[in-house]
Amino acid sequence: MILLDGRQASAKIKDEIAAIVSQMKQKNQRVPHLAAVLVGMDGASMTYVGAKVRACEFVGFNSTLIELPEHTSEAELLNQIKALNNNSDIDGFIVQLPLPKHIDDQKILMAIDPNKDVDGFHPVNVGRLTLDLPTFISATPYGIMELLERYDIPTSGKYVLVIGRSHIVGRPMSILMSQKRKAGNATVTVAHSRTTNLEELTKKADIVIAALGIPKFLTADMVKKDAVVIDVGITRVDDSSKKKGYRIVGDVDFESVSKKASHITPVPGGVGPMTIAMLLKNTLLACKKLKA
Ligand code: NAD
Repeated sequence: MILLDGRQASAKIKDEIAAIVSQMKQKNQRVPHLAAVLVGMDGASMTYVGAKVRACEFVGFNSTLIELPEHTSEAELLNQIKALNNNSDIDGFIVQLPLPKHIDDQKILMAIDPNKDVDGFHPVNVGRLTLDLPTFISATPYGIMELLERYDIPTSGKYVLVIGRSHIVGRPMSILMSQKRKAGNATVTVAHSRTTNLEELTKKADIVIAALGIPKFLTADMVKKDAVVIDVGITRVDDSSKKKGYRIVGDVDFESVSKKASHITPVPGGVGPMTIAMLLKNTLLACKKLKA
């Protein structure tokens, strides 16, 4: 079994980006600037945003963290987005999800300038991705594609099962893997909560991408021998033996599945770090007025 080490791959990507930023500095060019908007005090969101800001510092980007109180109104948040859209010093920005219940996620995402939408969630960017046009590919699927490419996993003609149909992971993942691209050309099935024959599909798949958010859902008896298994899931599970009082668990039962898979991503240390690295990549592209 080969571990698809997202920490190692993301460290390489960050080093590559840092080298480009250092050249930009030498040429007295403006370095990329990412802003992140965080509304409220959700623990997981604060951790993710903190990691994104630290990653910016590591590669030499400028970063701005805008922390707004939980009671921020939709109108106030829309004003903040308008300001970021119009701020020529900001190359790209993200609005950390989930937002408080009184704010309409879709309305917020629609207000972001597609040229600054480095999360790739705006309908214009999702549409461009679907049509295989240059775009900001949303960071988690982009990170998985990059991991498959960097580990030279053959995907052409393979049967890929994506479990989960969310707008940010499952759906774009399934589109990317079916396209004519290096880690693409696969035959893809998307399974979801209404799928009735999931085990039948998982047992056939050459590559399984689990993005459903149910800890240890995929077990060894469900996968084919030598399958490639990508675990997107991140769930906090109470664990009093840990300092923080919880541990992170993926959607795959790593202990059993790793004995059967040819390649597998660990959680933590697999898809998560890749997501952050690809957000940086998108921000660099935004600064250079390019798309992936
Ligand atoms: P989501 O809740 O939006 O979507 C979950 C999907 O799983 C749905 O489409 C649903 O139909 C499907 N599903 C639920 N139960 C199922 C079942 N029993 N069988 C088959 N399908 C089922 O979640 P999401 O935003 O796509 O995230 C999925 C997981 O990935 C979560 O644990 C999330 O925390 C994690 N995540 C990780 C990263 C990362 O960087 N590693 C990024 C985004 C999300």
